[in-house]
Amino acid sequence: MYFYMPTKVFCEKNCVMNHKEELCGLGSKAFIITGRHSSKKNGSLQDVRTALEEMGVPYLVFDEIEENPSVETVMKARQTGLDAGADFVIGIGGGSPLDAAKAIALMMKHPGENGEFLYRKGSDEAYPVAAVPTTCGTGSEATPWAILTRHELRIKGSISHKIFPALALSDPGYLRSAPSSVLVSTSVDAMGHCIESYINTNATDYTRMLCEKSLSLWSKGKEVLLGKREAEEEDLQNMMNASTLAGMAISHTGTSLPHGLSYYLTYEEGVPHGRAVGIFQAPYMAAADEAVRGQVLDKMDFQDMDEFKHFMDELLGRIEIPAHIQERAVREMLQNHAKLVNCPYPVDEVVLKNFF
Ligand SMILES: [Zn+2]
Repeated sequence: MYFYMPTKVFCEKNCVMNHKEELCGLGSKAFIITGRHSSKKNGSLQDVRTALEEMGVPYLVFDEIEENPSVETVMKARQTGLDAGADFVIGIGGGSPLDAAKAIALMMKHPGENGEFLYRKGSDEAYPVAAVPTTCGTGSEATPWAILTRHELRIKGSISHKIFPALALSDPGYLRSAPSSVLVSTSVDAMGHCIESYINTNATDYTRMLCEKSLSLWSKGKEVLLGKREAEEEDLQNMMNASTLAGMAISHTGTSLPHGLSYYLTYEEGVPHGRAVGIFQAPYMAAADEAVRGQVLDKMDFQDMDEFKHFMDELLGRIEIPAHIQERAVREMLQNHAKLVNCPYPVDEVVLKNFF
């Protein structure tokens, strides 16, 4: 067994201000990577600005990261960061800015390389990255993964390099202003990370321990996700912890079929990542070993698959997937070695067609 988690993780209220020394110890000029809106609304960007200003560390903000960020955006930001002379990167937001921050830190360290380098084997050296998550799904603050959109292939895909953040500063208070649709989508993503990590060729006692704890924390918020009660402080803390723990698990196992299939829905139909991942969880579990499936259901506090399916339908609703997208997803998934090897049961065309 093997366990490697080099990110220093703090998860608490006022996390950024509490750990401003650690944040500012990463370099002498910060390059802040974020999206256009949410980090301004939830206070995370202002917290990071204040922390840097109080410590006398200069910074530049790049707030043009779109949902499902593209290689082109990463390359544009790389140039901005290099021109500014920044030597560490702070990603603030959901999975999109955090993943982009990793790719930008990598490309800044390799100024002579073009965008193809992201998808080639080579040095993983990057400028230090700090991650400030403001959603509860990606787990990117505790993973080495970065998923970018590749328009030339009409798909999302993980870069070839592993970039763990040096520091994760996770404040559940940032979830307070998130719309319920974002809480649902991102929480379902975290749940999916656990299911795909638990039912996985690479699962170990260590990763299953992380998934079990994550799923039991996740299960406490089911009524909040369904809109049956308001989220309390403890719920937000549980959701944030569940997401980070799930991130640590997939750092070791990777994800499998549901994530691989979801990218087609997101790219072609604009379905948010968590929702796209969520609809494939029941079929992924249904084809798995019965005992392992039972353990997953037990941790999520569901009696059986019927109860789980009913919950997911109520939460996500139905998504119609056009036939040509289904066919492409099945065809290309059968060639997607990286996701197939993580699946512990045999996969063929018939198995995949059952996912739709
Ligand atoms: Zn995901």
